[in-house]
Amino acid sequence: MTHWLNEQHTMIRDAVRRFAEGEVVPVSEHLWEEEAFPYDIWKRAGELGFTGLPYPEAHGGGGGEWLSFVIVLEELARVDCAVANSLMANSTVASLLSNYGTEDQMQRYLRPILDGSTVGAIALSEPNAGSDAANIGTRATLDDGQWVINGSKTFISNSGTDVTGPVVVAAVTGTRPDGRKEISTLILPNGTPGFTYGRKLRKIGWRASSTYELFFENCKVPEAHLLGQRGAGLRQTLAQINTGRILIGALALGILQGSLDRSLAYMKERRAFGKPIAEFQALQFKVADMATHTHAARLMLYDAAALKDAGQPFGQQASMAKLFASERAMEAAHQALQIHGGYGVMSEYAVARAFGDAKVLEIVEGTSEIQRMIISRELLA
Ligand SMILES: Cc1cc2nc3c(=O)[nH]c(=O)nc-3n(C[C@H](O)[C@H](O)[C@H](O)COP(=O)(O)OP(=O)(O)OC[C@H]3O[C@@H](n4cnc5c(N)ncnc54)[C@H](O)[C@@H]3O)c2cc1C
Repeated sequence: MTHWLNEQHTMIRDAVRRFAEGEVVPVSEHLWEEEAFPYDIWKRAGELGFTGLPYPEAHGGGGGEWLSFVIVLEELARVDCAVANSLMANSTVASLLSNYGTEDQMQRYLRPILDGSTVGAIALSEPNAGSDAANIGTRATLDDGQWVINGSKTFISNSGTDVTGPVVVAAVTGTRPDGRKEISTLILPNGTPGFTYGRKLRKIGWRASSTYELFFENCKVPEAHLLGQRGAGLRQTLAQINTGRILIGALALGILQGSLDRSLAYMKERRAFGKPIAEFQALQFKVADMATHTHAARLMLYDAAALKDAGQPFGQQASMAKLFASERAMEAAHQALQIHGGYGVMSEYAVARAFGDAKVLEIVEGTSEIQRMIISRELLA
């Protein structure tokens, strides 16, 4: 694979692949068709230690490396990117709780999302604020020892399930001296009065990932539900987003590898004009490109993850890896579908489902345009 991997990484990859092939593949089409959250898989992923792998053992995590977690997501996304996203979105909440939470917050909210008892959701995006996250309008005011939240969120992964636990909400809590919005993050337990779900959002990809609109109407949580410092919400969230970019890149890497594997198998099996379609150079060149892009994406992602594990700056590498892997994954999913001809359009085929999933990756955790802005800004600084 690459010289980056030691025996432990290989053991983790083998274990996740067994789980993915044995327990995810058989239900993947059903989850897609029913747009169903993968409850059993989530629970099993927790039991097997995949959900909490890179988090401290003191709070129920596995104490493992981020590089290992990238391998977990890559292997899951190779067979089902939506299922892998439940771990990815949960991980953003886990990072926020683990980096900024109090001991009490970690025991109450972090531990259950690491062992698979509940699943965490991060609620930043709003109908009028996605890329422009500083423009959110949801407000939280402190009143008699309680935060009173009013507003709405949209596109929130892992929300609205029977196991949704903490929803970490970004809200405007005041105005800074320079006139900008003061944004803080609050821990909102699922089921808090005044917190309701709107529509379950129907999607062309990530269909097994539960995505809802959220509404808050005089929704109250104790003052102690503030996560980290008041006013540090945006900084805290953006600090996690670099890690999130590596993890979305890992999902893209899974799609790249899955597209390549399925294309190679199909090209050997399918015949046209009296011979296997693998003999047509037009298709051979497609898999050559896919394999090259998969290898390059893997090196970029493992490098970014290894830098994070080493405690070194990795923001630029994470943006580049996310940008490259997600765009190449979209291209690979497109070409894999093409290689499958008409069958590739049928949703019973994994290549069809991966086509929808790949598109999401160019949008979440910073669109491709935003990644290019970040990369070029640093180059020109
Ligand atoms: C399936 C799914 C799951 C999601 N899950 C979550 C979640 O769990 N939690 C959460 O908080 N959010 C979530 N999101 C939201 C996601 O983070 C946003 O969709 C994303 O940040 C883009 O924001 P937007 O959709 O508002 O697009 P916009 O910001 O409105 O962008 C529209 C277009 O304009 C471009 N654009 C914007 N600004 C610039 C600029 N300055 N220069 C050049 N081009 C620009 C964008 O690249 C894009 O092409 C999810 C989204 C999806 C689709």
